[in-house]
Amino acid sequence: MPRKTQTKRILPGEVYFAQVPGPSRKRTPTPYCYRMTYRATEKQPCGCVCLWDVMGGRDIYQVALEREGNGGLHWHCTCADAAYRGEKRPHACKHVRALQTMGRPLSETR
Ligand SMILES: [Zn+2]
Repeated sequence: MPRKTQTKRILPGEVYFAQVPGPSRKRTPTPYCYRMTYRATEKQPCGCVCLWDVMGGRDIYQVALEREGNGGLHWHCTCADAAYRGEKRPHACKHVRALQTMGRPLSETR
């Protein structure tokens, strides 16, 4: 098996579960599943660090964590809430907040 072609492989899906206010009007806490689909293999000065698929709501969303040039971290989500409210000011939708409170999945970024 040639090993040198394996430097940028996508890790096999790491899965997290979190209680997130559900899509119904009552916002009943609902188990959402976060599956990591991408994780940067090396520390990079900027660019995408991690990607997750979020399942459990009305749709499947994608959450991305991006490292900015100044070293800050910026979260993106494809849900309507993030698109609508996060456009002009920093806003973390419920999907991002749940992921942030799940601990520090970025231990390798130091
Ligand atoms: Zn969202």
